[in-house]
Amino acid sequence: MQVLKFGGTSVGSSKNINKVISILESYSKKDRVACVVSAVGGITDKLLLAGEQAKQKDQTFKDTFNTILNIHLDIINDLNPKNSQVLLDYLDDKSTALKQLLEGIYLINELSPKTSDKLVSFGEKISSFIISETMKNRGLSVARKNTQELIITNSNYTKAEVDYQRTNANIQAYFKSTEEQITVLPGFISKSVQGEETTLGRGGSDFTAAIIAAALQVDQLDIWTDVSGMFTTNPKLVKQAYPIKTISYQEAMELSHFGAKVLYPPTVQPVLDLNIPIHIKNTNAPEDTGTIISNEETRTSNPVTGISNIGNIALLTLQGSGMVGIPGFSKRLFETLAQEKINVILITQASSEHSICLGIDAGDAERAKMAVDLIFENEIALHKIDPIIVETGLSIIALVGDNMKNHQGISGKMFSTLGKNNINIRAIAQGASEKNISAVIADKDVKKALNTLHEQFFEAKTKQLNVFITGVGNVGERLVEQIKQQRTYLKENLKINLRIIGLSNSRTMCFDEEGIDLKDWKTILANGPKASLDGFLQQVIDLNLRNSIFVDVTANEEVARLYPNYLRESIGVVACNKIACSSAMDTYALLKRLSLKYNAPFLFETNVGAGLPVIDTLNNLVASGDKITSIQAVLSGSLNFVFNHFNDTTRFYDVVKQAQAEGYTEPDPRIDLSGVDVARKILILARESGMDMNLEDIENNSFLSESGLHSDTVADFFQTLIEDEDHYQRLYAAAKAKHCRLKYVAQFHNAKASVGLQEIPEGHPFYNLEGKDNIVMFYTHRYPEQPMIIKGAGAGADVTASGLFADIIRLGNN
Ligand code: ADP
Ligand code: ASP
Ligand code: MG
Repeated sequence: MQVLKFGGTSVGSSKNINKVISILESYSKKDRVACVVSAVGGITDKLLLAGEQAKQKDQTFKDTFNTILNIHLDIINDLNPKNSQVLLDYLDDKSTALKQLLEGIYLINELSPKTSDKLVSFGEKISSFIISETMKNRGLSVARKNTQELIITNSNYTKAEVDYQRTNANIQAYFKSTEEQITVLPGFISKSVQGEETTLGRGGSDFTAAIIAAALQVDQLDIWTDVSGMFTTNPKLVKQAYPIKTISYQEAMELSHFGAKVLYPPTVQPVLDLNIPIHIKNTNAPEDTGTIISNEETRTSNPVTGISNIGNIALLTLQGSGMVGIPGFSKRLFETLAQEKINVILITQASSEHSICLGIDAGDAERAKMAVDLIFENEIALHKIDPIIVETGLSIIALVGDNMKNHQGISGKMFSTLGKNNINIRAIAQGASEKNISAVIADKDVKKALNTLHEQFFEAKTKQLNVFITGVGNVGERLVEQIKQQRTYLKENLKINLRIIGLSNSRTMCFDEEGIDLKDWKTILANGPKASLDGFLQQVIDLNLRNSIFVDVTANEEVARLYPNYLRESIGVVACNKIACSSAMDTYALLKRLSLKYNAPFLFETNVGAGLPVIDTLNNLVASGDKITSIQAVLSGSLNFVFNHFNDTTRFYDVVKQAQAEGYTEPDPRIDLSGVDVARKILILARESGMDMNLEDIENNSFLSESGLHSDTVADFFQTLIEDEDHYQRLYAAAKAKHCRLKYVAQFHNAKASVGLQEIPEGHPFYNLEGKDNIVMFYTHRYPEQPMIIKGAGAGADVTASGLFADIIRLGNN
């Protein structure tokens, strides 16, 4: 004998029922088959909905009834175009009874658990009849047996307990008495000793099949569903989840207890004692291996077998100084909940005994509170304990694995992984057997938590980075293109899965939780909604993806002002924008603090020297214990361009215009020519060297003419360049007379910083600086005479973009 169970989706459409029939046909060639079926997918929910509507005196229960009827009619007609009379008569019969029941509920305005069981039983009765009759019509040897005549329970309606003695005897006797090759049986439904209709709990068809498998002592129980096995985690929430090949009964029980819906938790018990393996298979892909649940020990290097989640949890906290050291509180608490038939999913107790925390189904929370507050009425009145506290909107996530007990540091890894992603943990429980570690978190964090934990424990260390870029102008565009080009390389060589989730320019923005299609990003962005900085921030927060990184490629003050909001959500910030790091010392210090506190990296390598690794090198020197004594640098690609091109045959005005046209200056060239931009850069380097310094503290020896210095607009400024040509030519001539070249130099020495134009003699490392190159010389305790020198192109869209890219990768390796 073989026992197969098909779930709701497997029998959810005529197309799927045909698949089921062909699986049964092929299995029945080997041996006899007992086939347990669920109601047609979604029907149990609809029956309960109709009942609830009728109870609320809501006439729409009739619409729901009609929907239920039509779903079945369509399936019957589809499957049996010629030979449907017996089925239509049966359906007519059942639907008349169903309608009467719903009208009764409507009349008396009440839906008791007993009536509810009667109501939902229609689902499995009808589905099993349709399947067996259809198979008969196709000439197969089939019987149908109503399990209500076999499975006997107590009267605990909606989740009855099985009387195994009677049940096993019934099942064995029945299968002895029949000869049909296939028997179709409705799952989920049963009867009490008194003959009332009962059910085995939601999802209980799995349990029905296990009861039959155990009674008949078969070799294997097959659970056919809509996924290819028990997955490493909920496949609806984590795309990277994959089927577990083999798993122990204990692990399967733990996973299903904590929400892995693919198996109804009580299912394991009947087959466990007899060592009957459960095989989870996919009706849509019968050739897939699936999962085998058995006693066999499986040796894998991964101590974690699976991660599960269960939603709709309420956390109850009972606390009060009167509880300390006085026995009996827990006993009374649990007794009360047991009397109310409230299932406790998770328990934690602080060792001080000052509080007990319980996770239960949120649907039971109100009842639990009333009952518990009543039982502790006296203690509450005497202020020995507080009225019970109820929190909702919560979920439990659990790591499960038989082998976890032999490995240190799993819970540490679990909690630090969650913490790094800003997921707040409300309660923690670890079974003494160490087969599971569970945590209560907010519903909104579940998807992110499962994805991060799955990445941590199952994904061969591939790390997903979710990037949001604001400012896709010149540099931003290059960055997107570089990411597009390097995605495969990063995945294969660095195990980084880099995805752009959000993009924005000043006009529009766009988001795609699965990663924006980079082949087409410009069109997607152009067709997106109107851009807004707050809207962008909110979307990044709402998406709540792990390893989120905000990249600022603007020069906008408003964007920089939002960094704290990102960091506080544990979202990393990569800034090309210099404003934040060169604003008030307090702001810079705040950002550094937030970055540490919320474990959100804040990187801004491109603030100095574009793509050159200036800040990273400085950070490494400091981190390794070196001390910066002085910095000398040419940090302005634009000023270098200007002074490399300016001489007695060119006009200063023309050279500046050219630098602007080629994109080497800020949109407002005064920011470069006044030295402010260089001052900001040396300020950032000084701060990164450990100095507490502000922009006002930097001595700025400007080379501009008086009128240039005080011009009101960009146009005015350019006008002064024409008018003051002599002033600039004099600067050039003076340097030339000393065989020097003009370079705009930034210095940091003895806790003081300055910027200004200098005459650089031949032989000095700055003398031959070409084009738009930058150079930085670090003098440190370890580099006292020969400085560490970093030199290369210090401006340009491509190198700046690759500097940003490097920051993103750095963050990925963090
Ligand atoms: P059936 O109707 O066949 O009984 P269920 O809907 O009860 O099917 O269970 C299968 C579903 O369980 C899957 O579609 C999947 O969404 C969900 N599920 C949750 N956790 C897991 C897991 N760890 N492995 C597989 N499926 C899971
Ligand atoms: N039809 C029942 C339910 O939806 C039982 C089952 O499908 O296992 O809960
Ligand atoms: Mg199920």
